Amino acid sequence: MKEQLQMLIKLQELDSKIRLHDRQEALFPAEIEKIQHEIDGHAEVFQQEVAKLETLEKERRQRERDLEAAGEQIKKIQGRLPEVKTNKEYQAFLSEIEHLKEKMDQYEVEIIERLDAADKLREELKEKEKVYLEEKEKLEARKAELGEKLKHLPDDLKGLKARRIDLEKKIPADLLNRYRTLLEKRAGIAVVYVKKEICQGCHMNIPPQLFNQIQKGEQIFTCPHCNRILVPYDESSEGA
Ligand SMILES: [Zn+2]
Repeated sequence: MKEQLQMLIKLQELDSKIRLHDRQEALFPAEIEKIQHEIDGHAEVFQQEVAKLETLEKERRQRERDLEAAGEQIKKIQGRLPEVKTNKEYQAFLSEIEHLKEKMDQYEVEIIERLDAADKLREELKEKEKVYLEEKEKLEARKAELGEKLKHLPDDLKGLKARRIDLEKKIPADLLNRYRTLLEKRAGIAVVYVKKEICQGCHMNIPPQLFNQIQKGEQIFTCPHCNRILVPYDESSEGA
């Protein structure tokens, strides 16, 4: 009987692994897609930050061109001053030069503002890029790990199922039937350990007398609460 209980434990372990593999085969592709989505999201946020810097620099270059054009304009007007005939014309030229100089002052202010803002943003970007790349690396690693596991799942499953067939041959048909029925009714867990008078399937207490009988391992007992097959637990056992 002890041998049969041991085989049932092994069978449960195999079935739990098979169940997990089946679940992973269904879940991993969606999980991988979700991670890729997250990576794309981080990339987009970072790109938006980079774009802010690019906009600032584009604006600054435009102001620099405006500044230069205004300077050229002033020179042109000054070049035409000797041709001026009337005082009115002269005043008009001076006023235009004055106006252009004011504009140049304004452009210079705007250039400095953008230079300062760009410096600040560049500093922030350094830190943000570091965080972004670290996060990306972590996610890529997780994605690769899942991809690798997914690749091996079909072969792993084949191996597990072959082992299950071998093991099932050694278990008496009626016991195996009982196990299969329980497995279906009890969410894939038919055999559980009893630890400290507690069923590890439903976490309810096992009456002391029944517990003592289970510990002997001479007969197959089931949990009075969840009907699962109960196996005595000792320190050398592994969780089923
Ligand atoms: Zn139970």
